[in-house]
Amino acid sequence: MEKELITEDIREILREAFKQLDDVVAIEVYTKIGMNDMFNDIAVDLFRTMSELTDKIKVSFYKIGDENSRKHNVLRSPTIIIAPDKYDIRYTGAPVGEEGRSIVMSIIMASTSQTLLADDSKKRLERLKEKRHVRVFVSPTCPYCPQQVLYAVSSAIDKKGLISAEVIEIYENKDLAEKYAAMSVPKTFVGETLVASGLQPEEYFIESLIEGRPVEYVMPAGREELKDYDIVIIGGGPAGLTAALYAERSGLKSIIFEKANIGGQIAITPVVENYPGFASIAGKTLVDMMAKQTMEYAPLLQGVGVNDIKKKDGRFEITTGRGTYTSRAIILATGADSRKLDAIGEERLAGRGVSYCATCDGYLFKDGKDVMVVGGGNSALTDALYLDSLGAHVTIVHRREAFRAEERLQQSIFQRNIAVIWNSRVKEITGSRLVERVKIEDTKTGKIREVKSDAVFIAIGYEPNNEIATKLGLPLDEEGYIKVDDKMRTSMSLVYAAGDVTGGIKQIVTAVSQGAVAALTAFEDMANPYWKVKK
Ligand SMILES: Cc1cc2nc3c(=O)[nH]c(=O)nc-3n(C[C@H](O)[C@H](O)[C@H](O)COP(=O)(O)OP(=O)(O)OC[C@H]3O[C@@H](n4cnc5c(N)ncnc54)[C@H](O)[C@@H]3O)c2cc1C
Repeated sequence: MEKELITEDIREILREAFKQLDDVVAIEVYTKIGMNDMFNDIAVDLFRTMSELTDKIKVSFYKIGDENSRKHNVLRSPTIIIAPDKYDIRYTGAPVGEEGRSIVMSIIMASTSQTLLADDSKKRLERLKEKRHVRVFVSPTCPYCPQQVLYAVSSAIDKKGLISAEVIEIYENKDLAEKYAAMSVPKTFVGETLVASGLQPEEYFIESLIEGRPVEYVMPAGREELKDYDIVIIGGGPAGLTAALYAERSGLKSIIFEKANIGGQIAITPVVENYPGFASIAGKTLVDMMAKQTMEYAPLLQGVGVNDIKKKDGRFEITTGRGTYTSRAIILATGADSRKLDAIGEERLAGRGVSYCATCDGYLFKDGKDVMVVGGGNSALTDALYLDSLGAHVTIVHRREAFRAEERLQQSIFQRNIAVIWNSRVKEITGSRLVERVKIEDTKTGKIREVKSDAVFIAIGYEPNNEIATKLGLPLDEEGYIKVDDKMRTSMSLVYAAGDVTGGIKQIVTAVSQGAVAALTAFEDMANPYWKVKK
């Protein structure tokens, strides 16, 4: 008997999701024996199961080379075309892993004609008069990819006839990944032009789609979107999510703006083993649980970045990619981003083998490829273990003679015999189009050696996201972290900061606790303004 690939748990999730279907959706699945056979089986099984679970999905199976495949110019196996009678949406590669979410959403959107795009984005799209083909390169382990995919699919639905969307899985289409240098995902092309590396805020995606080129600044939406809150929270990582939960439960009307991925850094953490209550949990699962709980209380605008904050007539005026909002108080939970190495070739080869997210980009190197992890802290060792478990051949380069990571992680590295080059720093990363070799300097002798590597994963620490704090004129410490007191107050009344952006111990457990303290202090301060109390 054939092995069942779609388990009963998955069937149950699909059954529940398909309750939202409205019109019947036609799906065409194209395969060719000898081309990605394992993924062909997954695709066939997945879509056959879907059609068994609801009469609103009609699936047809075709062979590549037959008349239908020629009509739709299908050359790659597997290819999935969604609602070809209405739209131009295709998945080149089986929608596995993270893309399981996007395919289900894509089908629902094709069935209901309801997309994820905000009204402002739909208005912006009215400017588009020429045809656009948008391609998003993805991998099954990339938590940022589904959102970028959903922007593309939504656009193809809202502007049918004008926009076509293609989702390309890089592992099953390695030649395309190499051709477009898509070693880091998501990578988005409009026509042949690379418009974005990484997940974009929604308005940036839409503008780059309309313009057909990368855009660096997007005019905020009109002031008619003005809305007023008690607290505006900037950042949808664990600190921001917890702050909103506590603020709303205290009766304060709150909103969270998240410019990229809900969950911040945890969304790219393969496994978390030190969050109380969970012996071991995937970062993405943990953050999905947190976000679900928070969103029962407060709105969370994903893909909407905060660009500026000004104080005006005793209130804060917050300029976002989706218009201007006002509030009585602000919580800055903007977290931190990966620090760059400053090695020669790093910038040129970023996304071409140089990566700051092993969870996102590691999958392509899983079949025994040589990968280097640079760093010696918790993140570097977590990345190294993850890449090793994928099947990559890992070498860690660390500039000291001992790691500074947790003992448990160190033990796992040594138990698995992962190679370590001690007392060394990366001087140069070379390769014509993709990473090929790395020049490493011995910090004791100054000797340089060259090592072959297909990828370099950099995990050497973080830079605080302090742009908004700087614009507000808040004092920062010498490393750029926002200075706060023990109640998470900054130097400006009714402005609080929480999580990694305040420095110190950068962990989920500290971020959530600081988020809670910031919200409760805001509540306390609004009732009894401490700055008005006589000393
Ligand atoms: C690979 C890796 C492994 C880790 N493993 C662990 C672990 O095992 N255990 C543990 O406890 N911790 C771990 N951490 C650390 C942990 O993830 C962080 O300490 C935690 O996520 C910090 O939460 P935060 O909310 O302060 O910031 P972040 O998680 O950085 O979230 C900040 C959010 O703010 C958003 N943002 C920034 N600027 C703006 C703006 N202008 N407008 C709108 N949004 C904005 C960002 O997009 C981001 O999503 C790990 C981190 C990494 C990278």
